[in-house]
Amino acid sequence: MTMTSDIPGGRILIRGARILTQDPKLGEFTGDIIVDGGVIAEIGPKLDDTGATVIDGTDRAVLPGFVDTHRHTWQGAVRQTGIGWDFPSYRQHIQLTWGPEYTPDDVYWGNLLGALNALDAGITTLRDESHIQNSPAHTDQAITALQDSGIRAAFAYGWPSIDSNTWMLRGEATHPEDIRRVRSDLLADDNALVTLQAMLRGPELSTTEVSAKDLGLARELGIRSSMHVGNGVWGPMFRGIGSLGEAGLLGDDLLFIHCCTSDDDELKMLADSGGTASVAAALEAVMPGLGAPATGRLLKFGIRPSFSIDTEATVAGDMFNVMRAAIAARGVGLSLLPEVYDDLPSFTPADLLEFATLQGARATGLDGRTGSLTVGKAADLIVIRLHDLATQPATDAAASIVGAGSPALVETVLVAGEVKKWKGALTHPSLATVRARVEESRDRLLATPLVDG
Ligand SMILES: [Zn+2]
Repeated sequence: MTMTSDIPGGRILIRGARILTQDPKLGEFTGDIIVDGGVIAEIGPKLDDTGATVIDGTDRAVLPGFVDTHRHTWQGAVRQTGIGWDFPSYRQHIQLTWGPEYTPDDVYWGNLLGALNALDAGITTLRDESHIQNSPAHTDQAITALQDSGIRAAFAYGWPSIDSNTWMLRGEATHPEDIRRVRSDLLADDNALVTLQAMLRGPELSTTEVSAKDLGLARELGIRSSMHVGNGVWGPMFRGIGSLGEAGLLGDDLLFIHCCTSDDDELKMLADSGGTASVAAALEAVMPGLGAPATGRLLKFGIRPSFSIDTEATVAGDMFNVMRAAIAARGVGLSLLPEVYDDLPSFTPADLLEFATLQGARATGLDGRTGSLTVGKAADLIVIRLHDLATQPATDAAASIVGAGSPALVETVLVAGEVKKWKGALTHPSLATVRARVEESRDRLLATPLVDG
């Protein structure tokens, strides 16, 4: 049920909350925060409530919304169909069988479901890695769904999910030129709530020569790019980061996803280039053969990673799950490979929250606008119940959130000062329609006979 009557707007003051600002200058304290005109207007121990709607923050934490730096959001209709899949199973189901069957409508409803679920889980910025560009209509629907959801998003234009052998497995095709149309006609404004980036295949899924051309296109359009690297056996075979470095193509506009099997020299090159990384710890932990989450290895080279979901076909769509998977993977690593893991930096719950917020904003190129509770930044923030049965007595807020947090504890979500979740329920008007359309989509896709690779 959506409750619309008492949703606050305008000037909002959250009173007496535990505020985990993620701003290095402000740290964590108990106090107030005022949102006005879509931005964080004031933050401090005790603020004047004149003209503001006051929200009680007692027994609650306030933090910047989470930033998911890599999600193939279009796969909403086939969520949780692939728990335990290895990559060949993922490829057979998603890329060879269902991807080619997707209609523009399927993309719309899948993307809308994924974006709304992200908001419900306190993710206020979503970097949508969209490799379902089967036609310009598919692209348009993906973008429209992000805009209709109300989330802050970077739409990362990928490639078609048809004719997979052309586009993947060292395919020679260069990035679709239709991205030029999207840049000029749909996402020209870099200050909008939904902006454009590129999801490139990089040297491990295409070739270094193709990557050079693709990067040239993205840089000509003035947009940031991501690539999947360190993907299981392909990491040491094709050395995605290393081959770009040797070609002089690295830069601080690049986000590298996974990095599980990227070698130490590559991580050093990544650090030196100012590029960023995305660890999809939950997905990496459950997909056999991809490699272990690189959190500690990245930290060893001075790279503070961002976090991502990857695909809801295989893992849950919330950041709590990812943060816990990162800790779990470190524990398993210490048990099985102590000679490797003893040498890697540890990380605390506070670090994990920083990776899931501020570092996500950095990796998305949006840290000037979001990722910390800093006066003047957009009011992208979430309120989490700390004294729920799951978290009381909440001795340390960061530890309680990381250790026992869940979307159900996310009580309020604001994006650019607008309330997207209130009293534990999303405010979006079309939830029932989304469910019906996604089920239709799911029924048709799952009826398709599996295609052999
Ligand atoms: Zn991915």
